[in-house]
Amino acid sequence: MSRNAESTAFRSALEVIRAVEPRVADAIGAELTDQRESLKLIASENYASPATLLAMGNWFSDKYAEGTVGRRFYAGCQNVDTVEALAAEHARELFGAAHAYVQPHSGIDANLVAFWAILADRVEAPALRRAQARHVNDLSEADWFALRRELGDQRMLGMSLDAGGHLTHGFRPNISGKMFDQRSYGTDPATGLVDYDRVAEAAREFRPLVLVAGYSAYPRRVNFRIMREIADSVGATFMVDMAHFAGLVAGKVFTGDFDPVPHAHIVTTTTHKSLRGPRGGMVLCGPELADQVDRGCPMVLGGPLPHVMAAKAVALAEARRPDFADYARRIVDNAQALADGLLRRGAKLVTGGTDNHLVLIDVTGYGLTGRQAEQALLDSGIVTNRNAVPQDPNGAWYTSGIRIGTPALTTRGLGTAEMDGTAELIHTVLSQTTAGTNPDGTASKAKYVLDPALADKVSRQAGELLTGFPLYPDVELS
Ligand SMILES: *Cc1c(COP(=O)(O)O)cnc(C)c1O
Repeated sequence: MSRNAESTAFRSALEVIRAVEPRVADAIGAELTDQRESLKLIASENYASPATLLAMGNWFSDKYAEGTVGRRFYAGCQNVDTVEALAAEHARELFGAAHAYVQPHSGIDANLVAFWAILADRVEAPALRRAQARHVNDLSEADWFALRRELGDQRMLGMSLDAGGHLTHGFRPNISGKMFDQRSYGTDPATGLVDYDRVAEAAREFRPLVLVAGYSAYPRRVNFRIMREIADSVGATFMVDMAHFAGLVAGKVFTGDFDPVPHAHIVTTTTHKSLRGPRGGMVLCGPELADQVDRGCPMVLGGPLPHVMAAKAVALAEARRPDFADYARRIVDNAQALADGLLRRGAKLVTGGTDNHLVLIDVTGYGLTGRQAEQALLDSGIVTNRNAVPQDPNGAWYTSGIRIGTPALTTRGLGTAEMDGTAELIHTVLSQTTAGTNPDGTASKAKYVLDPALADKVSRQAGELLTGFPLYPDVELS
């Protein structure tokens, strides 16, 4: 791909936008500048390829395509069929799944599709059989009322939030917590690792309909073979949400017991995190749940986003190329180099290290809350996010952790030497930041003191770390 083609494409697009609302064109350009200049360590972010980005900005956005490939509720969907079928085929081949549903607009939507597919299969279908009805519309008022009660009375067992689980796994602020009676499993307080015996015990006691594995802040692998055995032992459906680590599955870093696809009944993911595609979601499953999953729209989704499905097809094609496996390997090498660099300088890490794409620093070791650490790092040109640690003393808002991830910087080409430099910068900032005090003299969880000259110096050094690794090197906007 010539430098010219990518530059011309984005420049022309901005010119067209500028003619209508110049402030939007300016903001898009400014976003590229910001992304180019910051040391982005947000574990859930990445940089999609120009081909993926460009596949989203077109007239596919104008099309309604409710239904599935070849069975639409709207006329004229032949081109949408082409891209949806391609995205699904690439997903099946890439992950070795029997079925792929590529319509979910986001990770949360993918989870809703999965939950309702499971409820339809395990609760609704048996109720229809009992009533000798073929469709919910055929149920009597009394049977429909009873079914709604039963759908709302199911149990879910998932990883606790402070151990790294996700809000969409049955927690009260999310719709999943209002749908399911949820209980969660934590991690071993001594090691920080998933304790499978404790998960098995919780499953035996609670007897969930759904056992969920998957996380957004757990720096280790999960043994999905063991989790499936636990699910089977209590008759639960085993669901894995691989939103964060899908890229490591695609790149064959997580194989065997650590590959969720052969072990789970159903797998959900985002497409924009380590998988490096467009912002969106996806569901993979075996033939047993395929029909229910395909009812995601209209069950919980509106019309699919054909432009995003086109971009998913592009990104999944990229992930099937051999260099993606190399990319995935480098993500983990970089995370481990970052963890080692931090440990060597005295940082405290949850679980003492990592074997995936993320590292969770327990910043109480620096006398800080997560909020103070996050802001001090941001002042110094390092973009991370605060995150709870297991048994967090500072709660979910201030927290005691900083979550850092390597998918984005690895896309730029940074390697283990730069990760050591990054560890040095992070440690410098955190060890030089002190907690502030409130007007009444008590310790503040938000205020902090950091010498602005030091923050500037680290910002410059962070910029220097990036100099050999241009972002979108073939895109020149001016
Ligand atoms: C990011 C994430 C989600 C939500 O994805 P969105 O696209 O933001 O809706 C769901 N589950 C897990 C485990 C995640 O990490």
